[in-house]
Amino acid sequence: MNDQNLMEKIVSLAKRRGFVFPGSEIYGGLAGTFDYGPLGVLLKENVERLWLTMFRDDRDDMYGVDAAILMNPKIWEASGHVAGFSDPLVECEKCKKRFRADHLEDAGKCPECGGALGEVRQFNMMFKTHAGATEDESATVYLRPETAGGIFTNFKNVVDSQHPKLPFGIAQIGKAFRNEIAPRDFIFRLRELSQMEVEYFVSPAAWEQAFEEWRKLMHLFAEALGLPQEHVHELEVPAEDRAHYSKRTIDFEFDYPFGRKELWGLAYRTDFDLAAHANASGVELAYLNEDPQVGEEKKFIPHVIEPSLGVDRTILAVLASAYREDDMGGEVRTYLALAPKIAPVKAMVSPLLKNKPELVEKAHEVRAELKKVHPAIAWDDNGNIGKRYRRQDEIGTPFCVTVDFDTLGETPELKDTVTLRHRDSGEQERLTVAEVAARIRAAIE
Ligand code: ATP
Repeated sequence: MNDQNLMEKIVSLAKRRGFVFPGSEIYGGLAGTFDYGPLGVLLKENVERLWLTMFRDDRDDMYGVDAAILMNPKIWEASGHVAGFSDPLVECEKCKKRFRADHLEDAGKCPECGGALGEVRQFNMMFKTHAGATEDESATVYLRPETAGGIFTNFKNVVDSQHPKLPFGIAQIGKAFRNEIAPRDFIFRLRELSQMEVEYFVSPAAWEQAFEEWRKLMHLFAEALGLPQEHVHELEVPAEDRAHYSKRTIDFEFDYPFGRKELWGLAYRTDFDLAAHANASGVELAYLNEDPQVGEEKKFIPHVIEPSLGVDRTILAVLASAYREDDMGGEVRTYLALAPKIAPVKAMVSPLLKNKPELVEKAHEVRAELKKVHPAIAWDDNGNIGKRYRRQDEIGTPFCVTVDFDTLGETPELKDTVTLRHRDSGEQERLTVAEVAARIRAAIE
């Protein structure tokens, strides 16, 4: 399967099975926007839950916030976004199409029509809107271009209310908006996206150790998501390509079907953000140090390590890694080899025949029992068993459970056992319902 083909198959499966739909589709769409459907929502929630567990809840030094998307515009002046959050834009003089200059192979020629390209100019990517009933400049607000802003502006609130000891961090998941010049590659480059971000505050001397810690955690997260290690690469961003405030940045790149591209970022942002916000707001954003282990200084502005992860890019990497086709009994079978932890549906229960009330009733009982392990236990009694398995394979359901006459006691020694079928191997085994519950629990924990 070539890579173009793979992308088409992923996009088609995502739409057909209710993972991801084009945004505003019945009106012809809106570039750079996609909607998550019933299964996509579950997958997204599972990815975010896994991140929250690993990056926030499993640690004693992390706090959560959920800040407003609309913020005082002074924040984006202080952070440098108003002046500098821009991409280089060029327009073709012939066909008038616009491109990101740094994404072109030939900087002088239009990739669509071959026409000459005009001057490169900087295009600010922040979406502007107006707060309140006036539409003049004084009412301009921006949709946040990254979630980090709402973390820095709540630094003092978290310190004052929680009294954390350094080092500590603040985690947030939320929407961010970027008016990308050329949104593309499905959910890879969006204009409305979700981010999972941590700002981890450290004493200046401790930044390298913290950077290393988060670097390792990001690899562990990739592993937990089921991304093959050989497709995740670190790119040490050279000084000339780093943001002006960053002393070290690693891009985590992934081998997407359309090439090796940035999946996540990890940056050492020094004290740039807190210092800039303290300076612009006039509010002191310092840490009062009482611990000799943290350092000599009494009061200082903490430095920051920032692991920044895009939710949508993560989901695309997960789908691309999980997509499989194999030959099962002479027909091509499509399945998603999703890690059970993030699979939208954990198991499907079905009665062997749907016109046998005793089988149906027993299967409902089995399903109710398994729902105690996890709520995402599906029901399917449509068509033959083979078709039901294929439907679940395609959405990545790790287990299928079938209730048959043996479950009811036709073969006495098999009474109350069911067939458990495994997604990847297609293998089946006969187990009690309690054993099936234990298998599902073990797989998702
Ligand atoms: P790129 O160079 O690809 O435009 P970036 O370096 O501007 O990305 P960051 O500002 O570091 O990206 O944003 C942090 C993370 O947010 C990225 O690693 C990515 O996962 C996600 N992200 C950024 N821009 C987009 C986008 N337009 N669509 C989807 N996810 C995005």
